[in-house]
Amino acid sequence: MLDVAFSGGVRIRHGGATILFDSADGPAHGQVRLISHAHSDHVAHTGRIFATPATAKLMKAVWSMSGKAKTIKYRQTVRIGDGLKVKSFNSGHVLGSAAFNLQGDGCSLTYTGDINTVETLTTKPAESRKTDILIIESTYGHPSYVFPPRHQTYARIVKWALECLSDGVIPAFKAYSIGKSQELIKLFNAYTTIPVVVGPYVSRASETYVEFGQKLDYLPSVESDALRLLASGGCVYVDSQVRRMLTHRRVRWAFVSGWALHHRYGGGDAAFPLSSHADYNGLMQYVEETEPEKTYVFHGFSDYFARALRRRGFDAQPLPSR
Ligand SMILES: [Zn+2]
Repeated sequence: MLDVAFSGGVRIRHGGATILFDSADGPAHGQVRLISHAHSDHVAHTGRIFATPATAKLMKAVWSMSGKAKTIKYRQTVRIGDGLKVKSFNSGHVLGSAAFNLQGDGCSLTYTGDINTVETLTTKPAESRKTDILIIESTYGHPSYVFPPRHQTYARIVKWALECLSDGVIPAFKAYSIGKSQELIKLFNAYTTIPVVVGPYVSRASETYVEFGQKLDYLPSVESDALRLLASGGCVYVDSQVRRMLTHRRVRWAFVSGWALHHRYGGGDAAFPLSSHADYNGLMQYVEETEPEKTYVFHGFSDYFARALRRRGFDAQPLPSR
């Protein structure tokens, strides 16, 4: 049987092997690390690492990962231990993000990493597969987190930016360097002619997006054309942190996060509930589609979401921590 626990990441024991999901914990040797995506709290730098080609590239390009990952493409199956195989498939969260399905002892276990179940300008919805054991994130696993249709949030973001520009102010967005920043770049590319200037980490991640076939038009903030745009005030700015820009123009900052649905962000001029995670309904639908016999829930509203699943007849519990 597969033994599941959580300690700085999800850990599975099988025979003599340990498989870690999204964890840099423990010794580098004798453990297999499966990295679902390249957000900083999920990456590992050393050990026997498996990740999709895009995640492996993002870990190097954005976080200067020192080690080397073995790559596993979507729908590819790789043997990782005695009688144990792993298959990866799209989790819809960011470029390269993957859910992993382990097969061993006649049992199938799926670990979702972070998932998004709706299509965005830069990602396809998460693929769901039937499984015996499901380990699922529950960041927004509460019915108060049902996001508005994405096109509405896109429209509000563009409208706000246009208002800033007509006031002679530069609209600036603080968003994760991987995922939401590229969605914002794509949004302004697709629906406006406003040039987009980006900060250093966003620039590094965006290069990898372009390398993997995404069409993105942006200028790194260090380039002379970007400096001219910032001076003239005729651009949108996207960065992973609120940063002083080389401009005498006034700047208004907007935060882009699912939490913006209910939380006001101090220091920001606006906030938009654009998330790379599934909302409550998306998570619920994903579990129903996978038809698990046992579900473990982690992150965010894990207690609530496990209870909600039990009310619907699922055998579900928050992930045990050790
Ligand atoms: Zn993430």
